[in-house]
Amino acid sequence: MDTRISGKTRLMGVIGTPIRHSGSPVMYNFCFDYYGIDCVYLAFDCDESQVKETLAAMRRLNIRGANVTMPCKQEVARNMDRLSPAAKLIGAVNTIVNDNGVLTGHMTDGMGVVLDLKDHGISIVGKNIVLLGAGGAAMAVMVQCALDGAKSVTVFNRGAQTLAKAQKIGERMMEEGIPCKMEYHLLAEEQLMHDAIRGADVLINATSVGMRPMQEGKSLVTDMTVFHEELVVYDVIYNPLVTKLMSDAMTNGCREENVIGGKGMLLWQGAGAFKLYTGLDMPAQELKAFLAKREAEGAPALADIAENVPY
Ligand code: NAD
Repeated sequence: MDTRISGKTRLMGVIGTPIRHSGSPVMYNFCFDYYGIDCVYLAFDCDESQVKETLAAMRRLNIRGANVTMPCKQEVARNMDRLSPAAKLIGAVNTIVNDNGVLTGHMTDGMGVVLDLKDHGISIVGKNIVLLGAGGAAMAVMVQCALDGAKSVTVFNRGAQTLAKAQKIGERMMEEGIPCKMEYHLLAEEQLMHDAIRGADVLINATSVGMRPMQEGKSLVTDMTVFHEELVVYDVIYNPLVTKLMSDAMTNGCREENVIGGKGMLLWQGAGAFKLYTGLDMPAQELKAFLAKREAEGAPALADIAENVPY
C-alpha cells in the first residue's frame, strides 16, 4: 500500500463514532487497488459536534468523498450544498461526494437492499412489499423501493411517532409524483400484518428484531402460514447471518434462494457509493472472493468487523 502513495494520491474515508471497527477501509482500498485508482481510504472518528469542521477539512484538503455512519448521518444532511432525492426525502446522508468544493450528500443504504436483491436475481419493480420497521434503515429501504419502481410499500412499525414520520416522507414522495402506493400501520395490528405478508411479493425486516445479542431468536412474524413458495424474505440483519425470521421462512415454504440476510446489503450500499465516487462498478464478485479468502485465513468477516458500525 505505502509504495503506491504519491504526491497526487487522494484521500477518502468514513466518518462516525465508534469507527475503529469499520469494514469500509478494507472494501474500498481493495477496489482502488483493483482498478489502480490513486486513492487511499481511512476511518476518521467524528461525532455530531465535529461534523462542520470535518466537512470544512474535506473541502480544504480536497478529499474526494466520505461515507458517513452513526451518529452523523442527519447532521451531515443538514450541512450539504446539495442532496440526492433519497437523502433529501430521508434527511440523512451516508455518502458525501466532493466535486471541487461542492459537497453532495447521497443515501445508498436503500440501494444496498435493492442491489443485493438484484444480485440474487430478484427485481422489486412492480412488486408489493411489506416493510417491518420505520427507523433509519427502514426509511432508506422504503424510499429506494418507491424510487426504483415498487408497486406498493406497506409499512408496519411498533411506535406511532416514528410511523407518522414515515408517513410524512411517503406523502412528500407522493407530492413529487412517485407512483408507489404507500400504507402505514402499527405492528399491534398483527392480523393485518400477517394478511399483508401473505399477499405480498417481498417481505423486508428492517427492525433490529432478530439481531444478536439482545434480540436474537425473536421474530415479528408469528403466523407460519404466511410463508409461501413465491414470497421473497429479506432481513437487513447480518448478525446472526441467519435470523429466526429467515429460518422460519425456509422451514415453512419459502424457497431457500429467496431468503436473504443483510450481509450483502453492507457490500452493495458500498457499491452504490463507489459508483458515485468513481463512476465505476464496484468489482463486487472479486471483492466477495477477496473477503472470503481473508475470512478463510482467519481475518474477521466483514459483518464482524462492522459490528460496532451498523452501516
Ligand atoms: P433504528 O434504531 O433507526 O430503528 C430500529 C427499528 O427497529 C425501529 O423501527 C424500531 O421500532 C424497531 N424495533 C426495535 N426493537 C423492536 C421490537 N422489540 N419490536 C418491534 N420493533 C422493534 O435502527 P436502524 O439503524 O434502522 O437499524 C435497524 C437494523 O438494521 C439493525 O439490526 C441494524 O444492524 C440493521 N442494519 C443493517 C444494515 C446492513 O448493511 N445490513 C444497514 C443498516 C442497518
